[in-house]
Amino acid sequence: MASTSSSQEAPAQDKRRRVDADPDAAAANPDRLITSADPEHPANLIPSLCAKFWTLGWVTGTGGGCSIRDGDLVYIAPSGVQKELMKNTDIYVLSLSAQRDPTFRQRTYLRSPPCYKPSQCTPLFLAAFTRRGAGCCIHTHSQWAVLVTLLLEQQQQQQQQQQQQGGAGGAGSGGSGSGSGGGGGGRNVFEINNLEQIKGFGRGPSKQGNLGYHDTLRIPVIENTPHEEDLTEYLEAAMEEFPDTYAVLVRRHGVYVWGDNVHKAKTQCESLDYLFQLAVEMRKLGISWISDIPRIAPDRP
Ligand SMILES: [Zn+2]
Repeated sequence: MASTSSSQEAPAQDKRRRVDADPDAAAANPDRLITSADPEHPANLIPSLCAKFWTLGWVTGTGGGCSIRDGDLVYIAPSGVQKELMKNTDIYVLSLSAQRDPTFRQRTYLRSPPCYKPSQCTPLFLAAFTRRGAGCCIHTHSQWAVLVTLLLEQQQQQQQQQQQQGGAGGAGSGGSGSGSGGGGGGRNVFEINNLEQIKGFGRGPSKQGNLGYHDTLRIPVIENTPHEEDLTEYLEAAMEEFPDTYAVLVRRHGVYVWGDNVHKAKTQCESLDYLFQLAVEMRKLGISWISDIPRIAPDRP
């Protein structure tokens, strides 16, 4: 197998891009799009990432998923596949520029697996790619994400009850008055500040650098729908309302997280899950998600 010319060949990434970019080659043999010895090829990376996500409880029972964009090509896991057992041959591939339906409800694929259906997450992933220029989007059914949306829902119900009772007593488990363990954004925004892990998030697609320790991280929440693809318009509306966000929570369902590339999407998803778990534990202990603490050192650019 050893080749004396291997050191003269183009890097694996460059070779892959050349094959992918040749539409005639892809049409003649679609499986070329998902065949590579490079573990970083999206068709190999999606199964390996999903296997890791499965161990975290993010993609249990075929729920959740992951999609990667490489230039114009988008690689997507199918619907109904056991995420820890997925193979490169299970992956769908489409060309963004070849799509004619702006809502992406009707789609054409360059390559489809023989025995699966396209994921209902697909138009949501495509929204992250086309509206935010993301390179990777991850969807989890993490219990911590679901619990945070339930706590926000419960918080609003408790506040409404208090208002109906004339504001007398009966604070929630946090017992901290109007804040009641959450932020000021109501049931449709998760807010948390003054935690080190917040520094894992970018300030926004059009901004430089990451959030600081004292900054407030805000993640919008949308309501769930019976069919996942029907979430798309609400996800897009949340992107419009929160132009700096890299994630959208879905009530009683999970979270969508994206990033400029796989590394950023994955680390932001990990940071967010850490913060969701921390937020749930904080609420149990009656600790507010939003705090006002003294600064002991200045921020630096
Ligand atoms: Zn889902």
